Amino acid sequence: RLMKATSKAAHESRKPGDDATLAPEDAARFLSCYCSGHCPEDHENNTCKTNGQCFAIIEEDENGEAILTSGCMKYEGSRFQCKDSPRAQPRRTIECCQTDFCNQDLQPTLPPPIDPGSYFDSAHWLAFLISMTVCCCTLICITVVCYYRYKWQTERQRYHRDLEQDEAFIPVGESLKDLINQSQSSGSGSGLPLLVQRTIAKQIQMVRQIGKGRYGEVWLGRWRGEKVAVKVFFTREEASWFRETEIYQTVLMRHENILGFIAADIKGTGAFTQLFLITDYHENGSLYDYLKFTTLDTQGLLRLAYSAACGLCHLHTEIYGTQGKPAIAHRDLKSKNILMKKNGTCCIADLGLAVKFNSDTNEVDVPISTRVGTRRYMAPEVLDESLNKNHFQAYIMADIYSYGLVIWEMARRCVTGGIVEDYQLPYYEMVPSDPSFEDMLEAVCVKGLRPTVSNRWNSDECLRAMLKLMSECWAHNPASRLTILRVKKTLAKMVESQDIKI
Ligand code: ADP
Ligand code: MG
Repeated sequence: RLMKATSKAAHESRKPGDDATLAPEDAARFLSCYCSGHCPEDHENNTCKTNGQCFAIIEEDENGEAILTSGCMKYEGSRFQCKDSPRAQPRRTIECCQTDFCNQDLQPTLPPPIDPGSYFDSAHWLAFLISMTVCCCTLICITVVCYYRYKWQTERQRYHRDLEQDEAFIPVGESLKDLINQSQSSGSGSGLPLLVQRTIAKQIQMVRQIGKGRYGEVWLGRWRGEKVAVKVFFTREEASWFRETEIYQTVLMRHENILGFIAADIKGTGAFTQLFLITDYHENGSLYDYLKFTTLDTQGLLRLAYSAACGLCHLHTEIYGTQGKPAIAHRDLKSKNILMKKNGTCCIADLGLAVKFNSDTNEVDVPISTRVGTRRYMAPEVLDESLNKNHFQAYIMADIYSYGLVIWEMARRCVTGGIVEDYQLPYYEMVPSDPSFEDMLEAVCVKGLRPTVSNRWNSDECLRAMLKLMSECWAHNPASRLTILRVKKTLAKMVESQDIKI
């Protein structure tokens, strides 16, 4: 029965050397091989039988000695193997042949020991090359970047040192007023030359702090005996410094009702940057400080309201021509940003948020700073965010609303018939002390509230006129508000009728 089994079955069940079970036709196809070290249990005379090949193998044992053995290698379908990796460990070499006892003559030799230098085959070698190239390139890039950064930093430091070392010669006895007047008549009309500004800034001695805003501290300083105000911006407020400096240096900006600019300076770099803005010093401080402790008569009220209107009018007005001035909207008008001059008039300060408009280019130049105006003074369209940011006139009309609130603050402090109100901020009784956006929106837009007015205002001609004026400034609809030119003309008439000297 066994002899009748299919040759395939015989293949699967037989091991080389099982010659007892071989069919005669199969036995003819089997090879006899010499075996040593790989002999089957029932071998005879170191002979084995296989359907595959005879082999001889030389292997390195644990002591590093070469041992030669041989035997039969079965043919098992596609799994017939007679090859070896030259990199196998421990080292070995196998050789096969296909005639009876042919493996007796085989003399395989051990592969040479592995040379660490030849460890990489081509794939490894390629990967190695790529990673080395990437590493080298990265290293070169880092070195180049570091080098240029270092060079840039040293250049920058040298530039700053040079600038700091450079000084303009300002003759002794020359006052700030002289210097500014000279530059007005000879220069571009946009302020002192830069080097003169830096020289003045460097020569200033700081005396004491006189004010603090949201964007910096204001100090009283002294330049060759003259008092000046030095606004020191917080480092993070560079955009505010930049805009304020830029606006003050706009051609034809100088006006008696706009804070007089003297110089701007920047010292140091990075986290140690110090930003200075040097202006005229006004010992009476802001309009807010002044109104708190001082009352006005009607003449004083008109002078003050008129001078503020003149300042705002100059700011708002575009002057045409090659040496023209753009129209400027303040965007943070309030009593704390108006300074009191000694002669009872005032000037507009804090231009860090101003926007410029040039009708030639039709461009609205909004500053890049994240600063926003003061919530208490924000017009309804700013609060309900309906203001069209691309429409310059919208900013102008929002300024008029704030101006209306400022003259309300002034009018409360005007004594008529022996009566005067205490100083208060607009909406003081309607919103909390540091009102949120929502508080203001609720009061101004939703409830439509406006600062309250004392009865006495209606019984005084001047205050009645002022009330009319302020109401027309703080109208809900921006288009219904007066222009600053109209306000100025109305006040000018009132001033004239009262025979007040401005
Ligand atoms: P901020 O941009 O931080 O609001 P401001 O320019 O409004 O700074 O100044 C803050 C305060 O400092 C003002 O409200 C005022 O009291 C005082 N101050 C500013 N400039 C002057 C000046 N030139 N003379 C006198 N006081 C000033
Ligand atoms: Mg301010």
